[in-house]
Amino acid sequence: MMWLDGEFVETATVPAFSHSVNFGSCVFDTARVYNTPEGPAFFRLGDHVKRLLDGLDFVGFTLAYSQEEIAAASKELVAKNGLSGEAYVRMNAFLAEEGMRLAHKANRASLAIAASPLAYFDRSFDEGLKCCTVKWKKAPRDCVPSQIKLAANYVTSFFASREARANGFDDALMADSKGNISEGCVQNIFIVRNNRLITPPTTEPILPGITRDSMIKLAGNAGIPVEEKPLNFQEVLSASELFFTGTAIGIMPITQVNEKSFKVGGLTKQLRAEFEKVFSCKHAFSEKWLSFL
Ligand code: PMP
Repeated sequence: MMWLDGEFVETATVPAFSHSVNFGSCVFDTARVYNTPEGPAFFRLGDHVKRLLDGLDFVGFTLAYSQEEIAAASKELVAKNGLSGEAYVRMNAFLAEEGMRLAHKANRASLAIAASPLAYFDRSFDEGLKCCTVKWKKAPRDCVPSQIKLAANYVTSFFASREARANGFDDALMADSKGNISEGCVQNIFIVRNNRLITPPTTEPILPGITRDSMIKLAGNAGIPVEEKPLNFQEVLSASELFFTGTAIGIMPITQVNEKSFKVGGLTKQLRAEFEKVFSCKHAFSEKWLSFL
């Protein structure tokens, strides 16, 4: 079952020649439900919905639903689908209007929400991901608004991921037009050097990931220094640990970059333990970050 513009429906479809299909004008977000000892709970649901609404504001679309209504619909959908395990909720806000022109008449977006069991287990935490650099570059922010989740933004990630997989890797490290490593295809990157975490700042062409933000806060709380600065490829190669963060994968070590292998390091394990403490309802941030169904 899905949710489409206020109704629970069996399938949600869009007209084949809608603006969003023609031009990728779909703003979306994905949130995750974790199993906790106190029952299933969304992780930072309010922040995910807020990012969706901020993205819509950025592109100039309006929506008939408030942050609270979208959060409530998402929770109801997970419950109605009987998803008792970990779940993944995707919210798509799109222009359904049909027409061949880039200039659109309506600004009112439709909203569709889908909830499905979480299915991202290609690699375990101990294996980590094998990544490579690719020929596709992240566009500068004045070409592509990487700070929002707009479907059209994902063309580079789509090609980069395909190139990486065709070459036998799990994922790609995306360089920007200056040659700095900005993020993965759909994950933020952190490296460890001299017992400090380093991650590119949100002024770079990256998505300000909610898991990235959580990791910075968890590290700060645990007394682990974090520096936000652009990462050049040499720094990545000389890191003692590397990991990705994202809603689907949580925190995931990167254990290979091109020909070079990396171990799953101590700080990565420590942060994963901190992150898991949140979902065991034992962390100081648990109450703030979990919202129960
Ligand atoms: N970068 C990109 C390009 C993404 O699509 C995602 C996934 N939303 C992320 C980073 C990680 O963000 P989050 O932690 O909010 O899932």
